[in-house]
Amino acid sequence: QVAASAENLTKIYGSGDTEVVALRGVSVSFAAGEFTAIMGPSGSGKSTLMHCLAGLDVATSGSVRIGDVELTGLSDKAMTTLRRDRIGFVFQAFNLVPTLTAAENITLPLDIAGRDVDKQWFDAVVTRLGLTDRLTHRPAELSGGQQQRVACARALVGRPDIIFGDEPTGNLDSRSSGEVLEILRAATDEFGQTVVIVTHDPRAASYADRVVFLADGQIVRELRQPRADDVF
Ligand code: ADP
Ligand code: ADP
Repeated sequence: QVAASAENLTKIYGSGDTEVVALRGVSVSFAAGEFTAIMGPSGSGKSTLMHCLAGLDVATSGSVRIGDVELTGLSDKAMTTLRRDRIGFVFQAFNLVPTLTAAENITLPLDIAGRDVDKQWFDAVVTRLGLTDRLTHRPAELSGGQQQRVACARALVGRPDIIFGDEPTGNLDSRSSGEVLEILRAATDEFGQTVVIVTHDPRAASYADRVVFLADGQIVRELRQPRADDVF
């Protein structure tokens, strides 16, 4: 079962003298329940690929599917609904709402969607991310690592089919990175969710089932069951 896929994806920014080809015909698919890390040098197209897969950016040509839904041609409204109901985002720009507490930030997407919060699952996520005694704090009262973990909890709490992360451990100390990676691993192993992250962190990649390497807008290599040594 395929959770997401891209076929012959091309992305060109700008035109004429300023044209940059960020993706050159990328085809890749992500099996349901699998944890994939996308790695590669800066400028190789990782963020662009992630944004196109997640429906945050539109490719110049090619197609993207989330589950059995083809994203090309979806209306903005349908796209927003799909993102809201099926996709979780753990991005480095935390985008936490400064006036809300950690708990309110975590449940905000569900509140907006009018969905119920599963209290038991909320507690499980918060406990695993070490946020139990930070729930009434506002973002300004939290460390960077705690803010990142709140963003992670927010992505997980609605049990999305697929979780996209852009450097989810990028700003974290070793302990917080471990907690985030463990919970992403648990999302796949225990609950069959699909995880796709962009990372430079060999430790993050070592948690993945598969590493896909990009260079100059193309997939140049894939590894299964990587160890940290393989990806330095
Ligand atoms: P990575 O995430 O691997 O660092 P990106 O996907 O961010 O790579 O960028 C791939 C290429 O596309 C780079 O050459 C980058 O400069 C260019 N690029 C990315 N975003 C834009 C943009 N909004 N406008 C123009 N060029 C862009
Ligand atoms: P049951 O129907 O047996 O209660 P649930 O799906 O509600 O099964 O989940 C069982 C336990 O796993 C609960 O503690 C729940 O909070 C937790 N859980 C549920 N979904 C997820 C998930 N996607 N990731 C991690 N834990 C989850």
